[in-house]
Amino acid sequence: MEGHPQLRQYYGIFRLLYSLKITLTYPSIQAFHERMGANSGDWFVALSNGKDVPQLKAGLYMVSPNNPDSVHNQNSMHLAAIHELTHFFIFKKAQGDLPIWMHEGIANFEAGKFGTNKAYFKTKSIDHMAEIWETQGIPTLSMLSTLDSDVFCEIGGYAFSYTLIEFIVQRWNFETLLKLIQRFDRFEEILGVTQDSFEADWRAFVTERYLVHHRWATQK
Ligand SMILES: [Zn+2]
Repeated sequence: MEGHPQLRQYYGIFRLLYSLKITLTYPSIQAFHERMGANSGDWFVALSNGKDVPQLKAGLYMVSPNNPDSVHNQNSMHLAAIHELTHFFIFKKAQGDLPIWMHEGIANFEAGKFGTNKAYFKTKSIDHMAEIWETQGIPTLSMLSTLDSDVFCEIGGYAFSYTLIEFIVQRWNFETLLKLIQRFDRFEEILGVTQDSFEADWRAFVTERYLVHHRWATQK
């Protein structure tokens, strides 16, 4: 596993949840997709259900990490487990609704994982953000709050959301992020800035950190 300090801790908790039967694993992608009633690509290997899927009880569902199939490998399956486990904690902790950029951004941030569903994610995620930046511009926070998961993927939602969480933890700290999870309705009070200035500062952060120095940008 990669060197993210929280990974091992979480993996221990994951095994505990598994032993309590809060986590269910499936022997193959086919068996998992059949149970989820989903017709998705092979990247869809895990799901954390709070109340979004009413026909499934709350818990974590995933393909066995020992049988990851074409898109994932064992390491990326473990990261997927931590990603889903983080969703589970957020569901338990949040006192109100959170935008999707908070849910997915924190889940990927905790998994130490950038943004794509593929095993080799970092370069691809940055390439994807650069491509979107050049063709349509950085998505707005309201775009990153879309409830349409296809649109979220197309606008680089996973990668840009990761950078939002990275920005919050760097500019403020991890405790502030936890407060936001609990009381997102107090966003401006917790961060001490307006939504607009938060958004403008994040755009500057992501541009400077990932986009202006991107190899494609220098070719222009
Ligand atoms: Zn997720």
